[in-house]
Amino acid sequence: MRIDKYLANMNVGSRKEVHKLIKAGLVSVNGKIVKTPKEKVKESDVVEVNGQKIIYQQYHYFLLNKPKGVLSATEDLHQKTVIDLLEVKDQYKDLAPVGRLDKDTTGLLLITNDGQLNHELLAPNKHVDKVYQALIAGKVTVETVTTFASGMELKDGTVLKPAKLEVLDVDESKDLSKVRITIKEGKYHQIKRMFGAVGMKVLELDRLQMDNLQLDPQLKRGHYRELTEEELDRLK
Ligand code: URA
Repeated sequence: MRIDKYLANMNVGSRKEVHKLIKAGLVSVNGKIVKTPKEKVKESDVVEVNGQKIIYQQYHYFLLNKPKGVLSATEDLHQKTVIDLLEVKDQYKDLAPVGRLDKDTTGLLLITNDGQLNHELLAPNKHVDKVYQALIAGKVTVETVTTFASGMELKDGTVLKPAKLEVLDVDESKDLSKVRITIKEGKYHQIKRMFGAVGMKVLELDRLQMDNLQLDPQLKRGHYRELTEEELDRLK
């Protein structure tokens, strides 16, 4: 990889800023001052900027608070995807969302170029917990809580694993229920279809948690940040 790309990838600065550092003779590879931004480096090379070692980070992990109206896909010809929300999308190859949220679903979405972690978190036999808060039209009853807990059958015959449904609030005057639901699978439109099977409609759906990773309340809709080391350790 070219040294200017390598340093930009490591967030040392923009390509332009990196070029200035190189021109000023502040960048070295294996102890030798770099003369041109075109110089090639390998991961095993010792790269220093202003005497400070740059540790190469192969994988990146972003916590996104997904807004409504964007697709959980890597690219789309017509619509904005969650990857389009990342200013750094051209810096890192192979970024992909870990699983999918519907276009109108909001909340926690992990995006990474670590294919192995992506695969592990989605593996059907891993049963990673996903926690959502939802606004439901109508009054969610104890019967629905029991139905969800028993491992219900969807209209197409799919039998689901038991899911935990907690009723947080019922607004009788507006005929709305606020619920928290924890599922262990990630089937297509799963929560909407679960409520559909008991004759109810999901009006809003927001993911709060996936495995041990929680949505950061400081993170506004459409905003993202890199995972902390501690968050990453908890996921692995
Ligand atoms: N269940 C759904 O119905 N939609 C989502 O986006 C996530 C879970």
